[in-house]
Amino acid sequence: MVMAAHAVVDRTALQHNLKVVRAITPHSKIMAVVKANAYGHGLVRVAKAMAQADAFAVARADEGVTLRKAGVSQRIAVLQGFVSGEELRLLMHYQLEPVVHSLHQVECLEQIRLSEPVTIWLKLDSGMHRLGFDRETFSPVLARLRHCSAVRKPFALMTHLANADVLDDPVTEQQTGFFRIAMDGVQAERSIANSAGVLGWKNTQAEWVRPGLALYGISPFGASDSITSMDLRPAMALRTRLIAVKLLETGAAVGYGGDWVCRRPTRLGVAAIGYGDGYPRHAPSGTPVLINGHRAPLAGRVSMDMISVDVTDCPRAEVGDPVTLWGDGLPVEEVARFAQTIPYELLCGVTQRVRFVEI
Ligand SMILES: *Cc1c(COP(=O)(O)O)cnc(C)c1O
Repeated sequence: MVMAAHAVVDRTALQHNLKVVRAITPHSKIMAVVKANAYGHGLVRVAKAMAQADAFAVARADEGVTLRKAGVSQRIAVLQGFVSGEELRLLMHYQLEPVVHSLHQVECLEQIRLSEPVTIWLKLDSGMHRLGFDRETFSPVLARLRHCSAVRKPFALMTHLANADVLDDPVTEQQTGFFRIAMDGVQAERSIANSAGVLGWKNTQAEWVRPGLALYGISPFGASDSITSMDLRPAMALRTRLIAVKLLETGAAVGYGGDWVCRRPTRLGVAAIGYGDGYPRHAPSGTPVLINGHRAPLAGRVSMDMISVDVTDCPRAEVGDPVTLWGDGLPVEEVARFAQTIPYELLCGVTQRVRFVEI
């Protein structure tokens, strides 16, 4: 029997993608980014599958605590750091390594008395203007932290790229150059590259790389052909089954609002998945789904628990048949393009209701 809405996570794909990144960055250590429940794939599941990663990065403290409680022993960086001494102590208790990006945090480190020093990642803002110190503040902060007894020395330096997925945007070179100038003469490990950096900008590879999306087998460049040539494998397939197939006459309006109207006698399939499962409500009619491996277009609005699909050209489609929303044969990049969003959002938007199956 085919299950209703479920996500299949392929551990071998995760391991394979890690090897691909390893081969592209032979001189770097890999910090696998597993924030947001490992981009929806399951935080602990992914960390265990990627046991060969040198470190992990999470966004927030509680994600790191979850990994520790699950027995993950690699280094874990917390990208948002901490906002209070209390939070800093919590991080230390679980041997989590905060990113230090604000003066508020520096003052906190200077005031706190710790039984042992904390390992940090110091962040420079090289042009994204989200987290990190600007160039003027960076040098004095670096000096202050080097004299701060609460901080373990040496500590690593990092920055984040704002637009590396656009391969002809000069801002990436500017950011990289800016980072290298700020780091000039500083003895420390460095980290710049996200997935787009790893795959598209060789000079962003440093002692550490921080890929997320690529490890899940998705191209940060949107085009799915580039991914085949990079040999990454999608780690998640979102699937369900047909729960009804019916014949409709020309002129019949389908779904809420009735904005999809049969232009011919139509076989309509109804699949058990909707925005309540994380399938994007904004996916328009025409967005492809796979029925028994054959493409068929979405027909009408996405409901909470169901979608309708025009299966007129899939004559063998029947109740109970498997439906793939994304995965093998239908890259999530393509679905994201139809829904006018990015694969990141689709992956981490899969909801609690969806059953996860590991293979
Ligand atoms: C999310 C994130 C990454 C990983 O980005 P991908 O595009 O998924 O590779 C790396 N570094 C930081 C600071 C991040 O927030």
